[in-house]
Parts: sequence; structure tokens; C-alpha cells
Amino acid sequence: YNHVYGKGKWKDFDPKDLLLTYNALKVLEARYLLKDPNTLRYIETPQMMFRRVAKYLASVELKYGKSESEVKALEEKFYEIMSNLRFLPNTPTLMNSGTRLGILSACFVIPVRDSMTTPEGDGIYDALRAMALVHQQGGGTGFDFSELRPKGDVVASTAGVASGPVSFMKIFDVSTDVVKQGGKRRGANMGVMHVWHAEIEDFINSKSGKLKDVQLQNFNISVGVYDYFMEKVERGEEVPLITPRKTRIPGTDHDYYINKARNYMSEEWVQEEILNELEEKGGAVWLDESKIITVDEALAIAEKEGAIIRWINARSLFEEIVKSAWDSGDPGLLFIDEINRRHPVWYLGKINATNPCGEEPLLPWESCNLGSINLEKFVKETENGKYIDWDGLAETIKYAVRLLDNVIDANKYPLKQIEQATKNTRKVGLGVMGLARMLIRLGIPYDSVDAIYLSYQVAKFIYYHAFKTSIELAKEKGSFPAYDPLRYHDIWESARPFEYLLEVTKVEGKPSEYVRKLTAIVDKLDFSELKAERIKYGLRNSTVVSVAPTGTISIIAGTSSSIEPLFALAFIRNVAVGKFMEIDPLFLEYLRKYELDNPEVVKKVAETGTVGENMFMPATIRKLFRTAHEVPPEFHLLHQAAWQQWNDSGTSKTINLRSEEPPETVERVYLMAWKLGVKGITVYRDKSKSQQVIYFGIKK
Ligand code: UDP
Repeated sequence: YNHVYGKGKWKDFDPKDLLLTYNALKVLEARYLLKDPNTLRYIETPQMMFRRVAKYLASVELKYGKSESEVKALEEKFYEIMSNLRFLPNTPTLMNSGTRLGILSACFVIPVRDSMTTPEGDGIYDALRAMALVHQQGGGTGFDFSELRPKGDVVASTAGVASGPVSFMKIFDVSTDVVKQGGKRRGANMGVMHVWHAEIEDFINSKSGKLKDVQLQNFNISVGVYDYFMEKVERGEEVPLITPRKTRIPGTDHDYYINKARNYMSEEWVQEEILNELEEKGGAVWLDESKIITVDEALAIAEKEGAIIRWINARSLFEEIVKSAWDSGDPGLLFIDEINRRHPVWYLGKINATNPCGEEPLLPWESCNLGSINLEKFVKETENGKYIDWDGLAETIKYAVRLLDNVIDANKYPLKQIEQATKNTRKVGLGVMGLARMLIRLGIPYDSVDAIYLSYQVAKFIYYHAFKTSIELAKEKGSFPAYDPLRYHDIWESARPFEYLLEVTKVEGKPSEYVRKLTAIVDKLDFSELKAERIKYGLRNSTVVSVAPTGTISIIAGTSSSIEPLFALAFIRNVAVGKFMEIDPLFLEYLRKYELDNPEVVKKVAETGTVGENMFMPATIRKLFRTAHEVPPEFHLLHQAAWQQWNDSGTSKTINLRSEEPPETVERVYLMAWKLGVKGITVYRDKSKSQQVIYFGIKK
């Protein structure tokens, strides 16, 4: 440009803006770049946006005693990892940093108690208000509606009849629609109901059949299931449906028996301290000679209390869930036992819900801010072959975690409960994007054992370094307030080995020499040393990792989203001024290599979006560029399970299925998911909804 525009003429123009694709610029222009509210003229370029975020988040450190020049140096580092597109924080951080609106986090879980309003601010209409405040600024909210009594149940204060959780969810849904008109982005919700709830069948069908594409359109819904329930499914036995209406047991602070019965608490994660506490609180006898009472014993008590509405066969309930998910994609499942078993700060209470896309299981009122590393940027090619730039990755992780930790201090919280809960645990979620493209660049097909191994190893590396950074931050700035060095659960102690994942999915094969060599550095990481350091120095954040969908930030970074395979290689986009053919740039690179980049070939690919069946394509291209619907469900699941093993929060993933897959496939996937130790599962069968956002190939 110097020779085009003259030296120094364009000093405000930063060549780093040229890293951005056309689509990235369109997205930034539409929502992210700041405008003057009076003239509506843009007042920043993309680089100015990265600068704004870097400056704002670095400035937090003045409070921790850093000097002006140290803060400036950090600002440069933050700016560098963002402007090079190696790392991007989640949308609210990009949009709101340094502006009057100050919510910087994407994920929230809001409690809903069985009351219109409560003095603590967690009744139904309190939750509705909290939701509106979060949506207004671009955050997503999750709710567990299981505490609300089922429809038809009594309402003592009015001598009336309860309308039930699904009816209240409709109000949350309409409110989301209304707020989205004025907000910065569409509000998203997760609605959870646990499987023991008396209204569970209405919930399961609330978005399917004739209600598909009609009801609860701003909600993803998930059924909270327990190991106890899944075992009953396998055996075809009966389970109770329960009303959570408080039927206080005299002499207890809380109806613990009913809680226990309805939560089917599995023995392993009910630690002794919880049990002692329960005993202290009101004489509810949980221990029978230091043993937990069995679920059956607890159920007998619930029955006596009149809390059991009826019994249902677990298998048929599960089939209803499967049928509905096959029909419309909803509901997904949340594995509540797994979530709590692997929750590092389990001693703070039980997690019952996640944010909208499932990557953040959170305690009531907690929020979490996310950010993702662009894996594609760390593939290097030399004459001697391809390799992964592990040093560069470790360096990026270090600044990314620091930046995310600063977000907690820079955040302006909409409610004091959210501020308190968030600052108590200081959860941050470092995730990834561009996995599919990293694999293609390394020449590894997404649906191969090598790819799963690579996921497993990269996830382990990221977890190690993110955790290490959090220890370093604790040395400098102190641990999160709820840190308890002895009770904190180190999740690597419960990570399943790689071979186990293949065993469950019955996928055969071994990782090749090539991928073992590529990732050999990971085998040298010493987690026991990490544990010793954590105990000695503390920990800044109770969770450090989370795999988010990266729906928009992956467009800004110009890479594939999250850990998903490519969706389509070429497609036709209808816009106001006409039809455009869009082609995946990496795919185009490969076509060029094989001298196949002519319009005829591209047009042919755009008709289906895929090349898997295209016999005229070289085999390498056909294998490397398998898209979401060509990848067998087992491999979708395996990637999710591999990332989940090295993740202290959740892993967002959609198991994309071909439209002709039968309900049995959904059933198989749901059962396998439980055994693989993922925290939740969502399927989506192609064309199962009328308003699908993206179609692959030509838009039909
Ligand atoms: N989210 C939301 N509305 C949206 C998209 C996302 O509230 O339209 C929230 C939701 O909690 C989701 C999280 O943001 O789970 C992260 O989504 P994603 O990674 O796609 O966000 P990005 O940072 O890429 O915009």
C-alpha cells in the first residue's frame, strides 16, 4: 500500500486488518465496531477494537500494583494475540469492553425457586428480570426449572392450581423475543428439567411434533439425567415422578429426604463433609452407621411424604426423549452426576444447569467469560515437514488466561448476586476454534483415530498450561476466595484414558507414528508436579477451560468453528443484491494444488456442499474434506469425549446426523455419550427443522 498510497499517507491504517476475511469484516461492521450514537458514523476500525479491548483489560492490573509500563507491556501482548487472530475473547468482551454497557461474559445460570418473588431475589419473576438484564447486553442464560411444582399441583396461598414449569418457560421465551429487539444480539436460553419431575413428559415434547418450530424458539432444552436413571433405562425398570413442592419434614431445616430421592445422588460424589453438614442441619439421618442411606430407602420416605405422583418405566421415558430429539433436536441430555463428580469446587453445592450451549455447567448465579484459541494458527510447515508450534501455543495460553482473569475484575455485573457468585469462584473458560482446519493442514482426516488422538493430546496440553497459568496468577494476585486446597478436585485424576474412548465406541485402530511424534511433547507433562504447586501457591480460577461453539468469533478469526468438522465446502448464499458462490478458502487451496480450481468443478461442489461421493476428486481431498453430515456419529462423539477429559467445564458439540438416520441412532448416541463421560449431549438431524440456519450446498 505504501507504493499505492504514498509512504506514510495511511498511517492510521493497520496492515493487520488485511488478515480479516470479507465475512469477518461484515460481521464486525454489523455489530462490533463502535459508532457515534448521534451521527451513527463508525468511530473505530477492527484494530482499534482490539486495542480498546486490550487496553481496558490490561488496565485492571493497575489495581494489583503493576506499574504503568508493565500495564502497557501487557496491553501489547493482549493486543498481539487478538490482532494476529491467535486468540479471541467471547462476543460480549469484544463488544462491550470499555463502553457504558459493561457485561463481558457470555454465560450465566440463574436460579428459579418455586415462588413468584422471594426476598433473596430468586423467585420466578426475579429470574425473569435477571434474564432481561443479561440478554440486553449479549449474555446467554440457563435455568433449571425443576423446583417449580407441576401443573395441577396446589397453590396454598391462593387455594388455586399451579400452571407448571413449561407454562412459565413460555413467558421467559416471549420476554427473550421482546428484549432482542433492542439488544445487541439474540438472547439464548437453556431450559433444564430433571428427569424425576412430574411434568417431565410435557417438557420433553414441548418443542417437538406440532410444537416444532412454534414453541420455545429461544430455548435449547435438556433433560437432567442421573446414573441411577440411566441404569434403570438399561434394565427397563420403573422410576418415580416427583413433585418438588415443599413437604417439610418436622425437625429438619429442609426436606432433605425428598431432595435425596429426587436427585438420585450417586454415592461416589456425596462426600463425607456434605453428609456431616446435612446431619448437623436438622437431624435428617443420612448416615446409617456412616453409610449413606440407599436411594430405595430415600424413595420410601418420599412416598410416605406424598411426593411421588406416579411411577413410569425408565426405558419408555428414555424412548420418548429419543423420539423427540430425533424429530427436532430437542431435548438434549445433561449428565448431572458426571457434571458434579468432575466439578472442581464440588464442595460449594450441586450444579443443576448449564448456559445455552452446554459448555458451562454453573452454580446458581455464577457467570463465566470465555475465549478461544485459533488452533489453525499453530500449524507450521517447513521443508522438513509439518509440525505444531507448541511454544507459541503455550505462550498464547499464558496471556489468554491472564486476559480472561482480568475480565472478571473489569466486568460490570447487572446484579449483586451474580457479582458475588462469580468473584467467589472466578471461573474462566479458555476454549478452541479451528480444530477441523488444523487437522486438514496436518493432513489428518477428522474421522480417524489419529484425529481423536490429536484432540486428546492438544486438549491435555492446553489444560496443563491454562492450569499452570492460573497457579502463577494466584502467586501474584491470590487464589479465588472459595479455594480450598484440600477439597479442590483435580480433574486430571478422573480423566479417562484414550483407549477407553475407542473401546466404548468400538472404533478400531491405533494412533500412527506420525501423530504420536507430532504430539510427543504432551507425554512429558507432569501433572503431579502441578498438583504440588497448586497446593503450595494456590489457584486463581476454579475452572480454566471450556469448549464454546465460537459461532461468531470463528467467523472473525476466519477459521472453522470450535471442535466441529467443516460444515460445507462451497455453497450459494442469497443476499439482497444477488446470489454468490462461496467457497471454503482452504478447500480452494487444495483444488489449486491439484489444478482443479475451475468454475465448473466449484459449481458442481456447491450443489451438494460435499465431495465425499465425488469420484472425480482425488482420494486425499475426499478423505480430508469430509463435512459434518459425512462424519459418522461415533467420531463426532469421540472428539467431544476427547476434549471433555481435559476440561474442567463443559464441551459444546452438535452431533450432526444425516436426515435419513433412524431414531435408533439417536438412542445409540445418547447411551454411548453417557458411558464416554461427556457432560451433555445434543444431536441435530439434517432438515429436521423448517427454519434451519445453514443448509449445506445449494439452499433448498
Ligand atoms: N450466546 C448468546 N446468544 C447468541 C450466541 C451465543 O447468548 O446468539 C451465548 C451462549 O451462552 C453461548 C455463548 O454465548 O453458549 C458462547 O457462544 P459462542 O461461542 O457461539 O459465542 P461467540 O463468542 O462466538 O459469539
